Amino acid sequence: MTEEIIAVPRIGMVSLGCPKALTDSELILTQLRAEGYETSKSYEGADLVIVNTCGFIDDAVRESLDTIGEALSANGKVIVTGCLGAKAGDDGGNLVRQMHPSVLAVTGPHATQEVMDAVHIHVPKPHDPFLDLVPESRGIAGIKLTPRHYAYLKISEGCNHRCTFCIIPSMRGDLVSRPIGDVLNEARALFESGVKELLVVSQDTSAYGVDVKYRTGFFDGQPVKTRLFELCQRLATLAEDHGAWVRLHYVYPYPSVDEVLPLMAQGRILPYLDVPFQHAHPDVLKRMKRPASGERNLERLARWRELCPEIVVRSTFIAGFPGETEAEFETLLDFVREAQIDRAGCFAYSPVKGATANELPGQLPQAVREERQARFMAVAEAVSIAKLKRRVGATMQVLIDHAPALGRKGGIARSYADAPEIDGTVRLLPPEKASKTLKVGEFTRARIVATDGHDLVALPI
Ligand code: SF4
Repeated sequence: MTEEIIAVPRIGMVSLGCPKALTDSELILTQLRAEGYETSKSYEGADLVIVNTCGFIDDAVRESLDTIGEALSANGKVIVTGCLGAKAGDDGGNLVRQMHPSVLAVTGPHATQEVMDAVHIHVPKPHDPFLDLVPESRGIAGIKLTPRHYAYLKISEGCNHRCTFCIIPSMRGDLVSRPIGDVLNEARALFESGVKELLVVSQDTSAYGVDVKYRTGFFDGQPVKTRLFELCQRLATLAEDHGAWVRLHYVYPYPSVDEVLPLMAQGRILPYLDVPFQHAHPDVLKRMKRPASGERNLERLARWRELCPEIVVRSTFIAGFPGETEAEFETLLDFVREAQIDRAGCFAYSPVKGATANELPGQLPQAVREERQARFMAVAEAVSIAKLKRRVGATMQVLIDHAPALGRKGGIARSYADAPEIDGTVRLLPPEKASKTLKVGEFTRARIVATDGHDLVALPI
C-alpha cells in the first residue's frame, strides 16, 4: 500500500499595530494551529498571507498599505484584517479594496471567524482526525507573539466613548466585555504556561463590564461580577499562585479605580497605572470629548499616591489640539509638573482621516504643534528623570528580558515601573558573585547604582 503524502498548508502572518491588534493575531494563529495549518516565516514559503493592519494614524495607514502591497507582489494571495480593513476610502467604499483590489478578503478587527472562513475558501483546511478533535481555543492560552514570560490579556473590545480625535469606535464598535470566566481561564492558562507578567489591555479597562451591567459570571464554579475590581482581585490571586505580576493598561481616572488602589498598595497588582490623560485643561478636554473630563485629576492622583505612595503613572498627551491657546497649553505643562507623571509620551496633534476633530475651528499650524510637543517633552523628561534619580541606592525586584550567557555580561530587565516596549528598562551589570546567574523570564533583586537617560543601571544581588 502506498501512503499519500499531503503537504500541510502554510499560512504567513504579518502583525502590525498596537497590543490589542497583537492579541487578534494571536487568536487567529491559535485557530490556524488548532485546525492543522502550519505557519510560514516568509511570504514565498506561504500558501497565503494574512496581514493584520493598523489604521490609527496616517503613518500607520501608509505602513499597512505598503505591507499589503509587498505581500501581494511576493505571494499574491493575501487576506487583510484589522483596523484598516474597517476604514472607508475616498469613494465611500473600502479603502483597502480601493488601493489593493486583488486582495482575497478584507475584514475589520477582532474577526477571527471571518478570517478563518476566508482562509478555508482559499486554502482548504487540512484534514487530520486527531487535530480535528482539538477543543475550541477560548479560555486556554493560545499562541502568543510576545516572549514566553509576558503576555497581553485582552478583556474587552471596542469603546463607548467618542473622543473627537479618534476613529477607533468607528472601526472596533462599542464596548463588548469578554465574559469574566473566559478572561480568568485564559489568565490561569497563561500563568500555567510560564507567563510571569500579565498585561491587561482594552480600549478602556476601567469600563470593563459596563456593557453587560456588571453581570455575574462564573469562574471555577464561583460567581464573579464582570467588573474591574473583581477582575483585579481574581487576577491577583492567580498571579500570587504563580509568583507573577499583573499590570493594568488604559485605565481612565474614574472614581471606581480608587477601589483597585488598595490591591496595588498591598503589592497584589503592580502599582503602575497607564492613564491616557491626553490633556489637562478642562476646555480642551471638552473639545476632545474625553472620558472623565470632569474629574479633578490632580486631586485624584494625589489621593492615589496617598493610598499607594510607590505608584508609577504613565500617560500620553496631545499638544497643539485644535483651538489650544498658549494659556491652555501652559496649564498642561503645569499639570505634568504638579502631577509628577513618571512616564509621559506626547504627540503633536495630527488629524486622522474621518475624525470629528478635523472640523473643529482653530487648527494650529504644524510648526506650532511641533514646537509645543518639544516643549512638553522637555518638561516631562525633566520630571521623569528627576524621579528616576531618586531610585538610585534602592533595591528593586526586576524581571529579566534578556541575559545572554546566563547574564555573565549582564542583561536587560524591567521593574514594576516599566511596561515592555513603551517604558525604560533596568540595565543589569554582570553579577559580582560568580555563582549568580541571570535567566530570561526570572525575577532577581537588583541594587540601583545609576540612571542612564530613561533607564536605570543596577547590580543584581
Ligand atoms: S476612549 Fe477615546 S481615544 Fe480611547 S478608544 Fe475610546 S474614543 Fe478612542
